[in-house]
Amino acid sequence: MMDRLDPRQSLQGQSSPALARRPLRYDDRYRCPVCYYGELTGMTLMESFGCSFCRHIFTADLPTQVLRLADNTPALSWRWDGQRWRRRHGTDMDFGPTVVILGTALVVFPTLLVGLAVYLFPPLPDAPGAWFPPVWVGLTGISHLVMVLWLAGESYALPLYRALRVLLSRQFTLGDR
Ligand SMILES: [Zn+2]
Repeated sequence: MMDRLDPRQSLQGQSSPALARRPLRYDDRYRCPVCYYGELTGMTLMESFGCSFCRHIFTADLPTQVLRLADNTPALSWRWDGQRWRRRHGTDMDFGPTVVILGTALVVFPTLLVGLAVYLFPPLPDAPGAWFPPVWVGLTGISHLVMVLWLAGESYALPLYRALRVLLSRQFTLGDR
């Protein structure tokens, strides 16, 4: 049932001569550039690839050997060099000032608001729940930071986020069996 590639069997080309340079084609199989775990195969009657693990769909430009993530904004892309994927930087990795400012604001403003309320209406020092407001301010900051990091990881397929996600998914599937 588990028709997955062993992650240790990397398609880097050093382990087997059979994995020499090969072009990007719809009738071949490749390691998924998003999760680095699933296998990309051409989808029947469609000029696109699908991943067996993360279920992302990709469109390909075979003359330039470029693969684009079709179901994501921003549209990430990779170039196939015959052995591995090369992330096309500069085209899709620009976080841009808007994204950075928005992400910072999403973390800072809610935390400031809650902090301001605690500052303006501080609890009595010897009240039984006096420890709670500062903890709540901290939780607000942490939860918003986690949310922003999750959105960034999901949208930009950040390597650390991908690794964490695969690790968690594998843990979950193994525990399921
Ligand atoms: Zn995948």
